[in-house]
Amino acid sequence: MRRGALGYNHPAVARPPRIIADAPDMPRASASIGWLTVVQPIVPGVYQVPGVVANCYLLESGRDLAVIDAGLPYSHRAVLRLMRELGHQPESLQAIFLTHADRDHMGGAAALRAATGARVFAGAIEGEAMAAASETRRVGLPGPIRMAFEVTSRFLFARVNPVIPDRILADGEDLEAPLGLMALHTPGHTPGHMSFFDAKRRILFAGDSMRSFAGRMRPSFGANTDNELQAQESAWRQLTLNPELILVGHGTPIWVK
Ligand SMILES: [Zn+2]
Repeated sequence: MRRGALGYNHPAVARPPRIIADAPDMPRASASIGWLTVVQPIVPGVYQVPGVVANCYLLESGRDLAVIDAGLPYSHRAVLRLMRELGHQPESLQAIFLTHADRDHMGGAAALRAATGARVFAGAIEGEAMAAASETRRVGLPGPIRMAFEVTSRFLFARVNPVIPDRILADGEDLEAPLGLMALHTPGHTPGHMSFFDAKRRILFAGDSMRSFAGRMRPSFGANTDNELQAQESAWRQLTLNPELILVGHGTPIWVK
């Protein structure tokens, strides 16, 4: 079976749809002017929150804000700091959209909701795990190694506070104004993974359904992927929406050419 440049090998996928690369004029996440650090948007109204492990994006529409993912426990502080730097009050955060129940994406959600009053949105499968502060993936590692991995990550990343979503999202659901995102069920990395698509501006928030490295993207793969075949199908489905900009959970922004 022929493997495409994007790592697709599902029989239904004949070839990768596009060549994908970093934009050469990609702005830096922040610029320093003397003692003042100015955070630059990736595109107007879309910021990558500095200083968090898994990428977390702040969306700004006038005075209304939303975040895609909330980082590890304590990452809420970085989100609040960025909001402050941009001149927003905590109450301006309307929504916390969570892609999946991994601790590096939902760990800061409970504290961020408590600090802002924002509503938390997630898919059904991941939402149930978030409420129990557990994860949904069946990790493809032998038992003792998996246990060592879990103990280490709990030790390193602190306790995760559970978060019960205020609303469960369905696949294809159009989310309310002001940000006009569409929720997409994109399983593979985890069984209930959700991505978010801004159809007007063609920006895809792909979470961990894809990752980027050195200007290339790949569907989620390897030991931290629940189902690689599903991940490839989900990546393909998202690319058929013709995103112009893909923002992933780990890696740099990708402009689709
Ligand atoms: Zn992640």
